[in-house]
Amino acid sequence: MAIANHSVNDLKLIIITGGVLSGIGKGVLGASIGALLKENFKIVPIKCDGYLNADPGTMNPIEHGEVFVLDDGGEVDMDFGHYERFMGVNAKKNWNLTMGKIYKTILDDERSGKYLGKTVQLIPHATDEIKKQLFKVLLQEKAEIGLIEVGGTVGDIENELFIEAIRQMRREIKDNRIMFVHLTYIPYIFGSNEYKSKPTQNSVKLLNQKGIYPDMLVCRSDSKLDKGFREKIALHCGLLEEKVVSIIDLDDINQLPYFLEEQGVSKIIKNKFNLSKITHLKKKKKSAHKKDSQLKIVIAGKYVGLEDSYASIREALKHAAHRLGVGLEINLINTSDIKMTDLKEFLKKTSGVIIPGGFGVRGIEGKIEVIHFIRENKIPFLGICLGMQLAVIEFARNVSGLTKANSTETKKKDLEYPVVDLLPEQKKVKDKGATMRLGGQDVLLQANTLIRKIYAKKVIRERFRHRYEVNNAFTKILEGNGLIFSGSTLDGEIKQVIELKDHPFFIGCQFHPELLSRIDQPVPLFLAFLEASLKSREN
Ligand code: GLN
Repeated sequence: MAIANHSVNDLKLIIITGGVLSGIGKGVLGASIGALLKENFKIVPIKCDGYLNADPGTMNPIEHGEVFVLDDGGEVDMDFGHYERFMGVNAKKNWNLTMGKIYKTILDDERSGKYLGKTVQLIPHATDEIKKQLFKVLLQEKAEIGLIEVGGTVGDIENELFIEAIRQMRREIKDNRIMFVHLTYIPYIFGSNEYKSKPTQNSVKLLNQKGIYPDMLVCRSDSKLDKGFREKIALHCGLLEEKVVSIIDLDDINQLPYFLEEQGVSKIIKNKFNLSKITHLKKKKKSAHKKDSQLKIVIAGKYVGLEDSYASIREALKHAAHRLGVGLEINLINTSDIKMTDLKEFLKKTSGVIIPGGFGVRGIEGKIEVIHFIRENKIPFLGICLGMQLAVIEFARNVSGLTKANSTETKKKDLEYPVVDLLPEQKKVKDKGATMRLGGQDVLLQANTLIRKIYAKKVIRERFRHRYEVNNAFTKILEGNGLIFSGSTLDGEIKQVIELKDHPFFIGCQFHPELLSRIDQPVPLFLAFLEASLKSREN
């Protein structure tokens, strides 16, 4: 197979599988391996997910972590956040392959007659379709190294076909061009005070039964495994000891590439693929914390059951705090069952508050109360997407006299002041999957506003994911009462940024600035928000 002169012979593959437990960091591991290679190779990450949704766009973030949005409008697995941030790539929607997409293609093809006369089967038809889609992406992108992460853990029924397809890929890709990395978990048993390797041994055996033999084993545990223990694992799993790598729970996931580098992971890859050179990562100096500068930032949302629900906001905050050399404490508060009386003292002690994106009715009134309090008490505020819409509602109710203002997302009928309403193009949309206003769009920033000063640019490109917008029928009255619409679409139709004067920092944006933050490139809006939070703390 070849596309535009790029053939499978030009490709090398690193396949990442997981064992023992899910949620132990395959995505961050893949992104970190990518970070080790990105200087020297064109590397394309692909994530395979076994579920039957076409994409995670319709899933609750509490079940699956945040939905990451790409510039091309793709709603993809949150691991793409790690890939983009660590590897500096701009991912595309077809880099996230799900069993839902595979089955849909096969079933559509069967109806259109592509398989006439044949019995359509999981092997070879589904596995062929997986291989076809994987190779197509890698060849179209002219990848030198494809980094394929298989979601879930080995043994999960829903991932079997991905594992089988990858096993078959060995027939197309020669042995020295495909490398298998398996991530497992090593539990520690209190009482006998020892680490246990058996779950890892079993997980590797399961993988072996499926015809896959790992070239490198990465074992996660709560502290670093010594050589003797790694030797034991190596013996049972059929590897050399130096190919058993120990990773631990790091305070900052951004340190993982350095941690891998220290254990010779670049060298293992270099030797496996016979590569001439891999530029070694240079450890960056930690910026010294300014004295007494621990910022307390609150994220007030409703998806608080899982830390990963707001993964990109957390990372964007960390990148900005790192740049400013300040310490950071992030507190999540649940706005669904909030009692403002209990919260006031707590909020007064916070440096800044973020109201993140969200959907539906639950938790809305709590968020509006929080905004009311922090607007009046001059606590720095950043409202993202839903957060901006709620700031508009709060301002309409409490400053502009539109006491029953609301969004038609929250109150569908008999709404006197629908200050937030469906985008016109959304009015005819029925299907829920991939039908929001999605992906990268231009934002025009008004002269002499805070946002324009922050970005020092007239037009910025940001990523969106929404169905509702500020209702233009109310912008005049809101402006008349002091709300500033400082950013919009180029034609001015969709309001995309709001801000207030006479407040240390009060900005709402319809876009998701957190999605563009990279380790070395914190986004201006998060930097400015933290700077303002720092200042308000000092005062
Ligand atoms: N629910 C709101 C809308 O669809 C906000 C979406 C979001 O916060 N991503 O417009």
